[in-house]
Amino acid sequence: MRILVVEDERRLADLLARGLREAGHTVDVEYTGSGGLLAASTGTYDSVVLDVMLPGLDGVAVCRTLRQQGHLMPVLMLTARVEIPDRVAGLDAGADDYLAKPFSFDELLARLRALHRRAAGPPPVEVRAGDLLLDPARRRVFRGDVEIDLSAREFDVLALLLARAGQCLTRYQILDEVWDGETDIRSNVIDVYIAALRAKVDKPFGRHAIETLRGVGYRLRPDGG
Ligand code: CA
Repeated sequence: MRILVVEDERRLADLLARGLREAGHTVDVEYTGSGGLLAASTGTYDSVVLDVMLPGLDGVAVCRTLRQQGHLMPVLMLTARVEIPDRVAGLDAGADDYLAKPFSFDELLARLRALHRRAAGPPPVEVRAGDLLLDPARRRVFRGDVEIDLSAREFDVLALLLARAGQCLTRYQILDEVWDGETDIRSNVIDVYIAALRAKVDKPFGRHAIETLRGVGYRLRPDGG
């Protein structure tokens, strides 16, 4: 996910950004309400983590303005103030959820996942190619009975290949879908991820699900290789 963090406490903001990046997300940070509003208004974020108490334009005003502008991305509000009126103000302003400081990082991740699932509609169904199985809702992958541990990006690349099993995907298509909007990624990064995926889903099982189409791209065999 592409996530915008708007938080004026730099230590907390940077801590959140680091944690979210380690969880495989792309993160931008804004330290003011006006900066946050400007960034979020570009419409390029899948969700926004928004502090309520910000100097100048506060989180409630930022959220209300975003909704007035027609932006529908999930907004998770952070606040040290747990009083009911503040929660109501935030939710009235169009926030999707509330998290009171101090919170555990795991809870933040869980809430973001839940918001994203809700925004995306019903949970997607499992995808299969032969005995290779991917469960998008739980983000788990199996080869037969063996669960395979993938990084967030590896998972996203495999999910894309599986969703289009039998079709050829160019490096640029994969970049476009998985590294959505990130322009500083080179297409040879794809080769690195494909190699890592093969080392996990194919080689240990003596299989060849992921095929290279020389000069074109990659294709996942519908029979799982
Ligand atoms: Ca604050």
